[in-house]
Amino acid sequence: MTPPDGRAGSRPHVVIVGAGFAGVAAAKALARCDVDVLLLDRRNHHIFQPLLYQVATAVLAPSDVATPIRAIAATQPNLAVEMAEVTAIDLAAHALSAALPDGRTRTIGFDYLVVATGVLPSYYGHDEFAAHAPALKTVGDAEAIRGKILGAYERAELSDDPVERARLMTFVLVGAGPTGVELAASIAQMARVTLKRDFRRLHPDQTRVILLEGGARVLPTFDPKLAAAAGRQLARLGVEVHTGAIAQNVDAEGVVVAGERIRAATVLWTAGVAASPLAAQAGASADRAGRAQVGLNLETQQGSGVFVVGDAASLAQDGKPVPGVAQAALQQGAYVGRLIARRVRGGAAEPAFRYFNKGSMAVVGKDFAILESPAMKMSGRLTWLVWALVHIATLPRLQNQLRVNVQWLWSYFTGQRGSRLIAEPVSAPPQRPAQPIAQADSPGVDPGRRPNAAIAGRKA
Ligand SMILES: Cc1cc2nc3c(=O)[nH]c(=O)nc-3n(C[C@H](O)[C@H](O)[C@H](O)COP(=O)(O)OP(=O)(O)OC[C@H]3O[C@@H](n4cnc5c(N)ncnc54)[C@H](O)[C@@H]3O)c2cc1C
Repeated sequence: MTPPDGRAGSRPHVVIVGAGFAGVAAAKALARCDVDVLLLDRRNHHIFQPLLYQVATAVLAPSDVATPIRAIAATQPNLAVEMAEVTAIDLAAHALSAALPDGRTRTIGFDYLVVATGVLPSYYGHDEFAAHAPALKTVGDAEAIRGKILGAYERAELSDDPVERARLMTFVLVGAGPTGVELAASIAQMARVTLKRDFRRLHPDQTRVILLEGGARVLPTFDPKLAAAAGRQLARLGVEVHTGAIAQNVDAEGVVVAGERIRAATVLWTAGVAASPLAAQAGASADRAGRAQVGLNLETQQGSGVFVVGDAASLAQDGKPVPGVAQAALQQGAYVGRLIARRVRGGAAEPAFRYFNKGSMAVVGKDFAILESPAMKMSGRLTWLVWALVHIATLPRLQNQLRVNVQWLWSYFTGQRGSRLIAEPVSAPPQRPAQPIAQADSPGVDPGRRPNAAIAGRKA
């Protein structure tokens, strides 16, 4: 069994799986503790998910919202990082199996384990919808959605069939939580402002953005008055909201709702989530979404040294579930880091975890956001400014903060979006059969195209 950083050592080994908000917060809280920390993630970057929708709608570039995990860890000497996907946890042996990028599997021992693996999109038992209705969770998802949206306009510009053109310019979002609302508003804004003058045959302002919600209103977790204000702002942007609307089928032609088909080339899934599978192996019972039901100190079994934090954890406080949001993940990660540090030092037990709700926000296009906290409820332009400042301040590195700031100012004043790229497929090597390099004086060689000796002699 390999200790966390590959070196034998006597210090306790803390393994953290997942470098999202919770995992990174746990690692940072252990910076001054006499332990070796290993942070594992299947990706090499930490994602600031609250701004992913802006990558999907071409406002920001992927590197604006994603930070290399190694850069986050660089200044913490007791923290090592490995890119690996954890596939199994052996609680009895205090070890886990990790699949490495080179195809090998490694067994890693731990004294303390923090599972911070977040959630995955859930299609509520209809995984076949995923092929036609991508969800937004990773940078790859955001780039694929951006390509789908921009590609639909390119195809619409080329189409002579008005029915097909209307289908290409119809965008349906399934789920009117914060992600659905933010994406819908951003697509509508892009169609009416950014793309306005860019096409010769189609009229981007004829775009239809349809937001489907199974419940009675948009933003069901927000105060009804704030949600209603957000609904009015969506209407101003031209977003059609259908409540009580359950997607019965999603296919290449669009969505079926209450037996009626909405023809749309782009359907995006912004509905449910389910815990990542690893949470179920951490030694706690699972709730309906597969999240580990942890104790008040976020441990799966008292004294086990195994913790689940962030979105992957299920915990109630004052009779209500702690929400799956970034600030809860940050607080839980930091709490478990402190708790482990206390245990290692032999100090008094950390008091039970308490979530401190600093407030939730949702943004609806330019100049409008809502904010709900225990102390206040507000909406409008000032709230939008607060939203922008809070998000800039929470981005993990100064580099990201500056880049996002510049992009936002540019977009705000020009209406333009800096990242309107449809990713090209990876170029394939030429398929022609190999031929010997022609001699300069051999027949059939264009003298003006003689092989350049410097290039021909270059190592492949
Ligand atoms: C599109 C979107 C918008 C959002 N907007 C907001 C918002 O505006 N405000 C807000 O507060 N919250 C928002 N959230 C929710 C917020 O992002 C999450 O609550 C938060 O990211 C949870 O943090 P986490 O650390 O638990 O999980 P995550 O941030 O999801 O991190 C989990 C990490 O675990 C890694 N991982 C998973 N399984 C494995 C494995 N087996 N092996 C190795 N690594 C693994 C993943 O690669 C990932 O890096 C949004 C979420 C999404 C998807």
